[in-house]
Amino acid sequence: MQVSESALAAARLIDRIERLSRSGVPVHGLNPAQWDALRYLARANRFSRTPAGLAAYLGSTRGTVSQTLIALEQKGFVMRRASERDRRSIALGLTERGASALDEDPLLAIAGDVAAATGGDAAPAVALLEGVLRAAVRRNGGRPFGVCRSCRHFRDDPAGAGPHYCALLREPLSEIDSGHICVEQEEA
Ligand code: SF4
Repeated sequence: MQVSESALAAARLIDRIERLSRSGVPVHGLNPAQWDALRYLARANRFSRTPAGLAAYLGSTRGTVSQTLIALEQKGFVMRRASERDRRSIALGLTERGASALDEDPLLAIAGDVAAATGGDAAPAVALLEGVLRAAVRRNGGRPFGVCRSCRHFRDDPAGAGPHYCALLREPLSEIDSGHICVEQEEA
């Protein structure tokens, strides 16, 4: 594949930043995979907080994700219970300890670097990286995990219980739901 020198330089930078974000002294005794799981559970909607959803998001295997979740449960960062929609499924959630650990997420240091490098307006950088991510996800046959409010199934709630509504899963959605990522999301 022919790519420009500048495109290759950008790809190297993304790779290096990713590695640096995963190095350093472990905060709260959590490894990078465990931080990935906490971040996902904080951002995913109630239809997506499952072991399968986490595995799809990370492009990982169910077995690897299972080990990560067992460790997080034992440390008191994550809880699991039977899903309210389907009692045979498992619903994952952050405990209070898991949610407050994210206040010290090591990724915040990189976010601070992005803010400094972009002069406080990171929106153009985000749009560019989203385009790169979309292409990489398509090539790997993965799911986009976009934000709910940008999904083609997102509607106003016809019954007024929502205020929003998922036409695919036929469930009301709150304002908070509308900003979460979803395993079923399809770009409008
Ligand atoms: S509207 Fe789309 S993103 Fe939102 S819950 Fe439904 S399928 Fe998921």
